Amino acid sequence: MSRKRAAWVIADKIYAAFEEVSQRNTRPRKLIAERLVELAESGTDFTIDDLWQALREGEPHLGRATVYRSVEMLVNAGLLDRIEFADGSHHYRVCGANHHHHHLTCICCHRVVEVDVCLPVDQLAAIGNQTNFDIEGHSLTLFGRCGECRSGKMLPGTSEQETSA
Ligand SMILES: [Zn+2]
Ligand SMILES: [Zn+2]
Ligand SMILES: [Zn+2]
Repeated sequence: MSRKRAAWVIADKIYAAFEEVSQRNTRPRKLIAERLVELAESGTDFTIDDLWQALREGEPHLGRATVYRSVEMLVNAGLLDRIEFADGSHHYRVCGANHHHHHLTCICCHRVVEVDVCLPVDQLAAIGNQTNFDIEGHSLTLFGRCGECRSGKMLPGTSEQETSA
């Protein structure tokens, strides 16, 4: 499936998720959904503030809390991925893959790559047995330095996050 087509499949799911929490399809929700479709098409990851700033261009009175609540709801619905970086910050992303996956992030430029590796099922079961837990989920984020950063081709300033971490 092309990224553009995948983005429209996501759009339907986002609208459905909004409808599930409330019958009112408000203008802020419509704007949020439209913007997320654009971000899904380009594969861009974003922060709450990035999204909020972009949306305020069309809706100046839009509250940050509204954007935050919508994003959290979509994360819980599995439509947005929350990606943790090595320095403790995080971004959100509409991922191309709609199956279970994890992320590899660059500690220099914050590039995000989807990876299909996972923890072995039998090891998860063993941990559950040892701890008497019913394990319901997990998160796993791999950190590293991407090829471009290793070859020193990164743009000036993009390594700041690394030094402040
Ligand atoms: Zn993802
Ligand atoms: Zn990098
Ligand atoms: Zn996994």
